Amino acid sequence: MSETKIPYKIYLEESEMPTQWYNVRADMKNKPAPLLNPGTLQPMTAEELGAVFCDELVKQELDDTTAYFDIPQEIRDFYKMYRPSPLVRAYCLEKELDTPAKIYYKFEGNNTSGSHKLNSAIAQAYYAKQQGLKGVTTETGAGQWGTALSMACAYLGLDCKVYMVKCSYEQKPFRREVMRTYGANVTPSPSETTNVGRKILAEHPGTTGSLGCAISEAVEDATTHEGYRYVLGSVLSQVLLHQSVIGLETKAALDKYSIKPDIIIGCAGGGSNLGGLISPFMGEKLRGENDYRIIAVEPASCPSLTRGKYAYDFCDTGMVCPLAKMYTLGSGFIPSANHAGGLRYHGMSSVLSQLYDDGLMEATSVEQTAVFEAATKFARVEGILPAPESSHAIKAAIDEAMKCKETGEEKTIVFGLTGTGYFDMVAYGKYNDGDMSDYIPTDEDLAVGFAGLPKVDL
Ligand SMILES: *Cc1c(COP(=O)(O)O)cnc(C)c1O
Repeated sequence: MSETKIPYKIYLEESEMPTQWYNVRADMKNKPAPLLNPGTLQPMTAEELGAVFCDELVKQELDDTTAYFDIPQEIRDFYKMYRPSPLVRAYCLEKELDTPAKIYYKFEGNNTSGSHKLNSAIAQAYYAKQQGLKGVTTETGAGQWGTALSMACAYLGLDCKVYMVKCSYEQKPFRREVMRTYGANVTPSPSETTNVGRKILAEHPGTTGSLGCAISEAVEDATTHEGYRYVLGSVLSQVLLHQSVIGLETKAALDKYSIKPDIIIGCAGGGSNLGGLISPFMGEKLRGENDYRIIAVEPASCPSLTRGKYAYDFCDTGMVCPLAKMYTLGSGFIPSANHAGGLRYHGMSSVLSQLYDDGLMEATSVEQTAVFEAATKFARVEGILPAPESSHAIKAAIDEAMKCKETGEEKTIVFGLTGTGYFDMVAYGKYNDGDMSDYIPTDEDLAVGFAGLPKVDL
């Protein structure tokens, strides 16, 4: 197919949208390690998980063998409001970089939440509604997940309680108001409304909170109120399953023009967008049908894959959640004030952790100022103002494209552009003023987090 025939944007028809999610675990020889009960250190049973999560989502979480799950019609109808999302050929960026590489990005920012998180929010809210629940509780850091869940709950008529990390609550009042506009109840975390929140406040007065702490509060709220369950926007295997819609659409769009990517890149916080984007490609790799280079990009300030340990760890600060085996910096690790809030989690999806440990994907870390430099370059030529999180993938894609320029190779690069950065203008302002700094934790800093890892001998 000649180059000029590939449009700027490859859209799918509604009829070409995926009708099933793909579960990459089904094709993994080494399955991700099971979640463990923190008390007994035995694998969590469906019954135990059912106290926290919706029943159908528990089934999805525990299922390592079913390759495809039907997407319920109501969810498919909701997806149609903002999907299919475009796969864009970054002609302008290629020209700016003067690279022979062919660059594509899958843009997930075309909805009010401004990110891919809506793909899983609507699924999780749907199953809560099906179960006859009153509502759901959750945490949010940067605010994208809370916004996405608020939208999904408003659509389905569910109550939505969001614990928002206190520093974000104060720094991002507009995000908070978007959530409230969709009817959510937003509480700054740590708060006085939960036991774990009161305990954390007593131990660390004046703390501005963390994601791990907000998770503990949201879980406590769900488990102490009749008719509520907790939902989580990343990390869990069920979230990767829902996000596979990104990868399935990407694959369908590429296949339409017989394009085979050489390199697939995504930013990695808890791993959901990357896991979703790569799922069908990783499936081919696992089944020996095709090969791809897959690269996870994380901030140098919160380097769970590149510098973390592969171990069982707590998912939250209050240690109320199950233990997950993952690449982790330790649940007590507090990353520096990095502006990519969605990438500040201490751990990584168990699925991606296992794939990375098996050498099936690579990981790299990038520094904040370089990320904003890439974001600015991208915005000026491609038009979209990217989220700081997404810009980690942009930075790595540009680096790969520049390597192609040196070698003259015409590689095809696909990256995930997970969202828009309209609520991150304080961060952009810092960059524009030249006030942004890079912080890379020392080995001693990391040792503090590792010291808090639970001792689990299996
Ligand atoms: C939450 C978020 C991320 C990181 O989360 P993952 O689960 O790793 O995908 C990346 N980009 C945006 C825009 C986000 O909102």
